[in-house]
Amino acid sequence: MRLQKIRKPIVITTAFLFHSLLIFHLLFSPVIIILASNKGIVNASFFSFVLIFLLSLFFGRAYCAWFCPGCGVQEIVGFVIKKKAKYTKARYIKYVIFIIWVSAIITGYLVRGFTKIDLSYGIENTPFERKLLLTLGAGLIIVPLALIFGRFASCKYICWQAPFMILGKKIRDRLSLPGLRIKTNAANCRKCNACTLKCPMDIQVMKKVQCGEIVDDECILCGNCIDACKSKALFYSISTPSKPLN
Ligand code: SF4
Ligand code: SF4
Repeated sequence: MRLQKIRKPIVITTAFLFHSLLIFHLLFSPVIIILASNKGIVNASFFSFVLIFLLSLFFGRAYCAWFCPGCGVQEIVGFVIKKKAKYTKARYIKYVIFIIWVSAIITGYLVRGFTKIDLSYGIENTPFERKLLLTLGAGLIIVPLALIFGRFASCKYICWQAPFMILGKKIRDRLSLPGLRIKTNAANCRKCNACTLKCPMDIQVMKKVQCGEIVDDECILCGNCIDACKSKALFYSISTPSKPLN
């Protein structure tokens, strides 16, 4: 069975649930956690971001493709917008955002300390209109960027969560720990380039097939390349790295 028939319904449902229940901001907003840290409150998104990092030590960036509500929005947008955002140096913008954002959070906790845990912070004390704005805020970023640059532009260029997972993946690979990867069987490759054309992150998949593994910080393990390959040259694997990594 094609992986996309499983993945897309999951991630689109996640997007629908998180947005309709107005809890997207509670668990993933980059704003709420800064407000919480400035009061010394450990809020729900604090645990979300820690969990995302811990999961990446085994799953890499699979969370992005399989469960992230933002990715679900990308998939919905993808029904209309077919152009892919390019794999350019703009992808480094997200690291700048990440450093500024994490610095603000750390500063808040350093100044205020950890005073209490409040998992409902951002729900009970936030007016409905603000909750709506914070929840829809992700969509208000994702959709215009997709219209201008193409699908998955925000994932590639500005996602504040992606660096957590890239960091986790790098630690895992540096320590040669086993984890979920896309491995390749180069002997099967017919060099048709179908995998590259299907990759939503615009990774040059075919060129990487010879390495025995698709190694790229932007790979979200969506499995589109696996589905596209009729020669079974690509497959999921739980294993250690094939080679020294980027
Ligand atoms: S789709 Fe498969 S056969 Fe075609 S280039 Fe990619 S890995 Fe090779
Ligand atoms: S390389 Fe394959 S698994 Fe990784 S993002 Fe591209 S299509 Fe998805």
